[in-house]
Amino acid sequence: MASPSGLLKLLAVCLAMISLSEQASITPYDKQNILQTFGEWLQRQEDNADPRLDYKDEKQSQHAMDDYWQGLALQEELNHEGEVFNGELFVESEWPEEKTELGQIAGVATSQKGDAVIFHRANRKWEEDSFRDNVYTKKDSGPIMEPTMVTMNRSNGAILDSWGQNLFYLPHGLTIDDNDNYWVTDVAMHQVFKFGKNKAVPELTIGKAFEPAINNDDMERLCKPTDVAVTKDGIIFVADGYCNSRIVKYSSDGKVLNVFAQDDMWVPHSLALVEELDLICAADRENKRILCYNAGLNNAELLGYPNRAYMDKDVMGRVFAITYSKTDGLLYAVTAPSDDLPGTGFTIDLHTKDNSNNDIIAVWSPTEEGFEMPHDLDVTRDGTNVYVGEIGPNKVWKFDKTK
Ligand code: ZN
Repeated sequence: MASPSGLLKLLAVCLAMISLSEQASITPYDKQNILQTFGEWLQRQEDNADPRLDYKDEKQSQHAMDDYWQGLALQEELNHEGEVFNGELFVESEWPEEKTELGQIAGVATSQKGDAVIFHRANRKWEEDSFRDNVYTKKDSGPIMEPTMVTMNRSNGAILDSWGQNLFYLPHGLTIDDNDNYWVTDVAMHQVFKFGKNKAVPELTIGKAFEPAINNDDMERLCKPTDVAVTKDGIIFVADGYCNSRIVKYSSDGKVLNVFAQDDMWVPHSLALVEELDLICAADRENKRILCYNAGLNNAELLGYPNRAYMDKDVMGRVFAITYSKTDGLLYAVTAPSDDLPGTGFTIDLHTKDNSNNDIIAVWSPTEEGFEMPHDLDVTRDGTNVYVGEIGPNKVWKFDKTK
């Protein structure tokens, strides 16, 4: 139990912090002055002298007292700013508050506000006989008639919104860009769609419906594309996919600009753009590794140059999904159980010079047993939450930076 004077002090610090945060115009110079006065106060106290005795009248003394409280608050704030996030994430066990019935959870993304957006297959399943020679065998059943896209409230997991009925056959990847466009892939249709405000008609379609690409050189078509990444200027990257092995780069209106990473990967399953490092990273699922290439945004000639790779089969199992937090400069990855390794979340620091598995700064999971079958993840724009979707049993986890 805090003492009354301790409580008073805490209250004063809180009040001073509020006033500090309101003073948006406080300059680094002001801060320095306040901290200096604060330091002098502390020194006087250490010398067992009442610092207020330094001042001749009450007004001056009060002024000095204000400086003291402000200095204390500023110090707390700076201490807090100085805390370095160690990359560990903690599951929020009470989220969602009420269970929601969803189909196979394929895609996970975050809304601008940090809600979880889930792209799922409702009553449809990807089954053994769903494809013959990469052609979808159940086209005659028509598109999924139930909504396939749901938004779950960040604070309690309640369904806020749903759409996406009568559009998709086998949902897979979902990306929401900074301009609030929804980018989805459908592995049965072999297509990528962009949805803007109108959620009934796509603004852009890439690939030919139900026609799988013949090979890595076929630029007209895709083959079970898995994921999309979009730059702030609208440049599009598509991971293609389950049957091809390549990343295709498109202009914002869907024209092919280039193709790279051909035959490097065994199921490129997820993409993460790191624009400030000019990198595009891919989860090379069955090879149990993450590969990062130059994205050619600053210099087109460098597109596709290998830059970083994270692979250590003793550490990392099949990597199903990756996502990048601009706020923290960290890459999050999630793996499924593989051989003796449990399904695990990884936090990787991309800003080191190391470029090795030493860049893995933390591992995390929802339970001691680990993930069962994670399929996708995404981080909120403010960097504070990560959502992971599992495809069997179907489940969405929410993680926080703090316990
Ligand atoms: Zn998949």
